[in-house]
Order: sequence, then structure tokens, then C-alpha cells
Amino acid sequence: MGLDMARRKLIAGNWKMNGLQSARKQVQDLITLQGGEMLAKLDVLLCPPATLLADMVRDAGASGLHMGGQDCHAEDHGAHTGDIAASMLKDCGAAYVIVGHSERRADHGESSAEVKAKAEAALAAGLIAIVCVGETLHEREAGQAFSVVGGQVKGSVPDGATAENCVLAYEPVWAIGTGKVATTDDIAAMHGHIRELLDALGGTALVDARVLYGGSVKPGNASDIFALDNVDGGLIGGASLKAADFSAIIDATNGR
Ligand code: PEP
Repeated sequence: MGLDMARRKLIAGNWKMNGLQSARKQVQDLITLQGGEMLAKLDVLLCPPATLLADMVRDAGASGLHMGGQDCHAEDHGAHTGDIAASMLKDCGAAYVIVGHSERRADHGESSAEVKAKAEAALAAGLIAIVCVGETLHEREAGQAFSVVGGQVKGSVPDGATAENCVLAYEPVWAIGTGKVATTDDIAAMHGHIRELLDALGGTALVDARVLYGGSVKPGNASDIFALDNVDGGLIGGASLKAADFSAIIDATNGR
């Protein structure tokens, strides 16, 4: 990664299973609110449901706003009813895909090995993989947060990962959609830990890999979180659904 691009902030919105055609209006609203300047300084991404992806790629046009998928299959094609291949996301204009979100790890029983295979499929398709990791409340209270997240990082980061094609997202499960945010000390400690793990795993290739925080990031708490040393942006759920909130979170980076 060139010096000017090293750990360029990434603000990613995960719409989850939300959004009908009428929600596409948020794309134009966001572009209007942000103009070209911020989108040139940062990477800003929306991951809508697959049903809106191709349309929203067209809506974003040449604004610099990126689109991504929320999941992909580990195989490139075949008899997997209801699944989507990474190459299909790429084909409709996606630049990124989220893999291993805690909702998929929980709802679909995805293991780190499966997440790793999905991330490798993403890289093979030319997408940037956003690999999610995070501990449950039970695991944190049992003093296992570092070992659980460490195991997920080691087990989920794809072979061939570099700072250009792979992003980590630390999302404590108990903070997702709950309004509870990890303290800045806890976020700083876990991000420092993840960065050490990435250095050990990928050597120089992952030194500049971006590590996002996710979990109830809102306009009111984003600037404190984004100011932390090892936080390279955010993965935003609920607050990415409204352009005004998402735009305020983008502004909280102060363009850095
Ligand atoms: C998420 O879904 O990745 C997330 C962080 O959600 P929220 O911002 O709503 O907590």
C-alpha cells in the first residue's frame, strides 16, 4: 500500500436485512450531504441487501461511494440454492464483501474455517474481504475476550491476505444493535491485540491492514472511537440506514 493510502479510513455501512427499493434514496442523499471531497479522502462503503446491490452501484455512479455484499459462498458456482458467489457480487459492481459477521456465525453456525474459505473466495474474485471477529458478553465476562478474538483472527484471515485486499472488523457481539458501546480503553486494547496478531500472521503484508470497530457506533460517539490509534474506521449497522446519521459518522473522522 502506498504511503498516502496506508490505513486510509474506511467507514462501512451494513444494512443487514433492511431496505426496499424506496431505501435507494439514501444513496443520493448521502452523496449530496458528503459531496466529492470526503469521498475522495476516505473509503465509504454501503453493504445493502443483495436485492439492491446492482441498483445501488448504479445509483452511486462515479461519486466514489463503494458498494459491497454482506456475505458470499466459499464456492464460485454450483448447487447452493439461495447463496451468492463472490464473483456474482463482483459482477454487479461490488468492491467489498463482509464475511463472518457475528449474526452469520450465530444464525448460520459459520465456523472460522468457513469464514476463511469465504474470504479466500472473495479475494479470488477480486473483492476486498471485511472479516468480522468479536466475543460474546459471556466470553468477555469469563475473561476470554482476547483468546476468542485471537482464535477468530487466526482462523478466519484468508491465505494471501494483504492490507489491500483484507480488512478486519472488531465487533463485540454484545455491542451490536444494543446501544452498548465498548469503552475506548477496551477498544484500544483489542485493536492493539488484533494488530499484533496480524503482524504475526501476515508479516509486512498486513502491517497496514485496516482494523474497524463496530457495535452501536452513532454520530455522538464516533469521533472518540475514530480518534483511537489503531482504529481505522467503523462498521456501522443501524446508523447506516439513514443518510444523515451515516454522514455525521463519516464527518466524525474529520477527513483523517
Ligand atoms: C453491525 O451490524 O455490524 C453493527 C455494528 O450494528 P450496529 O451498528 O447497529 O450495532
